[in-house]
This record gives sequence, structure tokens and C-alpha cells, in this order.
Amino acid sequence: MRDIIVAKFGGSSLADSKQFEKVKNIIEDNKNRKFIVPSAPGKRNKEDQKITDLLYLCHAHVQQNISFDYLFQIISDRYLELARELNVDVDIKSHLQIIKKNISEGASADYTASRGEYLNGLILAKYLNYEFIDPAEIICFKENGAFNEEKTQMEVSKRLETIERGVIPGFYGAMPNGEIKTFSRGGSDVTGAIIARGAGADIYENWTDVSGFLMADPRIVEDPKNISEISYRELRELSYMGATVLHEDAIFPVRKAGIPINIKNTNRPEDKGTLIVNDLDPISYSKTITGIAGKKDFAVITIEKNMMNAEQGYCRKVLSILEDNNVSFEHMPSGVDTVSLVIAQSQLNSKLDRILKEIELKCCPDSIEVHPHMAQIAVVGRGMSRTIGISAKIFMALAKENINVRMISQGSSEINIIIGVEDNDFERAIKSIYNVFN
Ligand code: ASP
Repeated sequence: MRDIIVAKFGGSSLADSKQFEKVKNIIEDNKNRKFIVPSAPGKRNKEDQKITDLLYLCHAHVQQNISFDYLFQIISDRYLELARELNVDVDIKSHLQIIKKNISEGASADYTASRGEYLNGLILAKYLNYEFIDPAEIICFKENGAFNEEKTQMEVSKRLETIERGVIPGFYGAMPNGEIKTFSRGGSDVTGAIIARGAGADIYENWTDVSGFLMADPRIVEDPKNISEISYRELRELSYMGATVLHEDAIFPVRKAGIPINIKNTNRPEDKGTLIVNDLDPISYSKTITGIAGKKDFAVITIEKNMMNAEQGYCRKVLSILEDNNVSFEHMPSGVDTVSLVIAQSQLNSKLDRILKEIELKCCPDSIEVHPHMAQIAVVGRGMSRTIGISAKIFMALAKENINVRMISQGSSEINIIIGVEDNDFERAIKSIYNVFN
């Protein structure tokens, strides 16, 4: 059994040679950090540009037949400076020349964007004295561009078995004909997860510029506490409500393999960060709630019909109208004779009138009401299930703030309570719930 840590470093962790030094120290601090997945260099300061963005711009310029020389020069300068300052022996100049030629000859957007990670990987591998592994050889996409999970896992495991220490650039792989294909933006997180699974890692470390997830949005709650531990399912609930640090698709490969993810801060490696653990792992902390997140701008359509509960297929009829109009709903709280549909306002815009008319016509409700400008707040925590008094605490806090609760729904797993309030009350509601638990 090999002790293996897979460590993915984001763009800000590798933005310049100073950051590279921090990364090297972190890697050398634990000899189990055997497989490293780098992103492309990110912003060095607020005004700076991400290499990936510049590369996409180069591609767009070629498409429009506009010279991309000055853009490519900015990219070249950054890599040349990196290689020089780190004193690594990589012929970056030749690589840049080939890449520039390929882009000018009409290389795809995916190829162009992927070179950010490719070049960074070459430099990092040399700097660490690790083997460079081109993901084009092991991360496989199908002809139609979909990710080929099965083949990839096979290739990754086979390859990594033979390697003691390696750097595998994030974000891209290749299709059967060798053409480069990338994941969606932020996709190095996904590569890291795939490598962790393929390597049979004990842990997948995701190094970034924050010390993990916060219990609430810092734009709403002042200095919110860090979440030290969260389960995959809790994370899914919170990210669905808009709290993101990690690419969504990064969860699945490691979750399947039961590998925990540790979100860590490259600039404060001593911080514990957030550990993402299996849903069934015993809770190692006493907190009843893990986090709070929410989104504004929903509309709620409430339909009332006497004896609805006895009528078979009523909800199906209502939902088929949404389906016909290509609208998806978020929740469907129901009462004996009522059913409500919570729908993102952005989905409805021009379609609302048509949908209401169709419901009138096909479902013959006694009444139908639309409540716009509603927000949803999710209070999430696996410690909540089977703990008495959580909802009492939440609703007391809201009542104290004079906030009208317009909707309540509890997920069947008892790890979340979703509360509907008016958009105007959103921030106050989140603050008051946070405060009552902290
Ligand atoms: N460099 C890519 C992006 O900016 C992938 C990543 O950083 O994860 O989206």
C-alpha cells in the first residue's frame, strides 16, 4: 500500500515564482505529496490577467483575423520570467514558438487554452524534480467530446502505478484522435479528483487562496467562521445555493472512491482548511449546523384546487406544462389542496403568462397566485438530523427580526431546511440565523 496525497494547486497558488516557492515548500513538507496537479498561472494582483483568459483571447483574435502578437507576448513574458526566476532548465522558448505557430494556424480553443496548464506543468515538474505526465495521454474524452470516465480511470491507474512522483497538468485531456479537449472552466479541480481516484490516494488536497469554506457569505455576515468539516452531501446542498470554491464535477470521482478532499490555503498552509468527508462518516464536531447559503430572485406559483389530494395525476399535469415550456423548478412544497412551484425568475421571464394560461386551461385550479421576488435560504448540517430544537431556534431568530417566513421545506434526509423569505429580507435573515448558532 502506497501512502499517497494528490495535491492540486490553483492559479493564484502558481501565479509567480514566489508562489511556486511556497508550493515547493508545501510539497516537500510531506513526502506523500506524490502527484501534483497544477492550474495555469492566475492573477498576481487584482488588475492582473489570468493566463487562461489571455489564451482564449488569442484564439478569439485569430478567429477574427486580428493579430494576437501583443497578447502572446504577455503570455510568453510571464512564462519566461517564471522559468528564469526559478532557474529551471526547460526550453520554454521553443515550446512557446510551437504553441504560437499552432494557434496562428487555427488550433482549437481547447488546445489553445490548455497550453496554460501544459507550460506551467513543465516548469513545475522541473522545479520539483518530478516526472512530467501529459494528461493528453491519460485523461480520455470520447469522440463526441464527453468525458470517458471508464477509460480514463484505467489509463490513469495503469500509468501512475509505474511512477513514483509526477506532475500532471490540470484542465485537459484528449479525444481518441489525439485532439486536445478541456473540461469546463475551473476544470483542474476535476483533473485533481480523477488523479486522486486513479492513484488510490488517501487524500485529495485542493490548494487555493482561501482557508476552505466559510459558514456564510462574508459579503453578508461579517467575518464568518470557517467550516472545518463538511460531508459531500452537505456540500452539494450549499453549492446548489451558490456557495462555491470547488468545481462541481470534482466531487464525483473522489466521492465514489471515498477519498476525502482537503481545501487548503497556499498562503496559510498552517490553517487546517475544510475537510470534505463521506456522508456516513461519524461527525467529529459538535456543531448542529454546518453552513447557510441562499439565492435571491425566485418566483413562487401557488395553485389551489379543492380536493386536489384526491385527484390523481394533478401534479403531473402541472409539471408537464413546465416541461413543455422548458422550465425547470427548484422545489415543490405542497399542502392538502395546494401546491407551490418555486422557480428561478430568470427561467420564467417571458414565459410566465403562457405558463399561467396553460395551467388555467389544463388544470382548472380554483385559484392561482404568483409571488415574485422571493429568496431561498438553505440551512445545512448533518448534525441537524435527529437534533431537537434546531428549527425552533431558526424560526425564533427570524421572528425576532420581524421577518415573515413565506415557505418552509425540509429535505427528506433531514440535513437541510429551506426557508423562503422576501428578497428584501434575505440578508437580514441570513445574519440572524448565523448569529443564533454562533
Ligand atoms: N485554468 C483553467 C481556468 O482558468 C482551469 C483551472 O484553473 O482550473 O478555468
